[in-house]
Amino acid sequence: MSWPWFTEAITIAVLSLLVFAVMFGPLERAFAARPGQRAWRAGSGVDLAFFFGQYLLWSALALLVLDQVRGGLGDVVPAGWRRGAGSWPLAVQVAVAVVLGDLLVYGWHRACHAVPVLWRFHAVHHTAESLDWLAAHREHPLDGVTTQLAQNLPAMALGLSLGEVGALVVFRGMWGAFIHSNVRLDVGWLRFALGAPVLHHYHHARDVARTANYANLAPWIDVVFGTYQRPTGPETYALGVAEPAPRGYLALLVWPFDSRLRRSLRASGGSGSGGAEQIGSRGVDQGSGGYRPAANPSRAARRRALPLPPIGSSATVQVAHRRGSL
Ligand SMILES: [Zn+2]
Ligand SMILES: [Zn+2]
Repeated sequence: MSWPWFTEAITIAVLSLLVFAVMFGPLERAFAARPGQRAWRAGSGVDLAFFFGQYLLWSALALLVLDQVRGGLGDVVPAGWRRGAGSWPLAVQVAVAVVLGDLLVYGWHRACHAVPVLWRFHAVHHTAESLDWLAAHREHPLDGVTTQLAQNLPAMALGLSLGEVGALVVFRGMWGAFIHSNVRLDVGWLRFALGAPVLHHYHHARDVARTANYANLAPWIDVVFGTYQRPTGPETYALGVAEPAPRGYLALLVWPFDSRLRRSLRASGGSGSGGAEQIGSRGVDQGSGGYRPAANPSRAARRRALPLPPIGSSATVQVAHRRGSL
């Protein structure tokens, strides 16, 4: 019995893995945000399982959903709107689709942190204790599909072709790998226009009371909504979630559905997925709108969150809030 589709899927997955490794491996070695972090570290095996799961199974599910929704939008979006948008130059259509997609996925991402049932799925992504391009693929399939939907809904509503939507998906996927990569690069004024690893790494800080930087591609949205924080010191803060989380691939897939598993993990007294490092960074730039801590859905998580050292404390790592330093 031959499974040509499976052979093809495996080939694409392995080639994609090599492309990512060739693109980001040298960058991570040359500009490491955490210089001591190894290329193969604790959690790499689980992240690799998520990578292959995504390429062999879940991306097909996402494409199926996108295709179905794209077809259904034809009945919902007025034909006149589509004709009007279709008369714009392609570059304008793509720019509008990207900006609207960024706004929509920003709202969805915030909802995933604020609504308990959504957080259950999104928390899987946040269980990564180390970040690099491979950890970007640690994502529950339902979280991945709904995020793809939010990101691409405007493009589909505008009537962009499946190929054009696919190109946006690939671009956003590459950018997603970049902002998770273990890289620290100063991009100057562009830091307000394009998401950077330093911002998204801070989004993964284990201190749940300070969740910030929800926009992956467009940090100006965080500035506008007051959730922008740019750490300026070395990245020594702990990553992960404060609540106890399973470690294996399959356990992480069932974790959002299995209330018994969650209860038993809590009862076992786990202290979360992150290590025992001090939280924080030496400095944090905040958007002009100030920063409002996000509501976190889990009271247990809030209880387990490590406190930030006070400003000016003698803790190993200090956090200094420099308001208005954009
Ligand atoms: Zn998040
Ligand atoms: Zn992330």
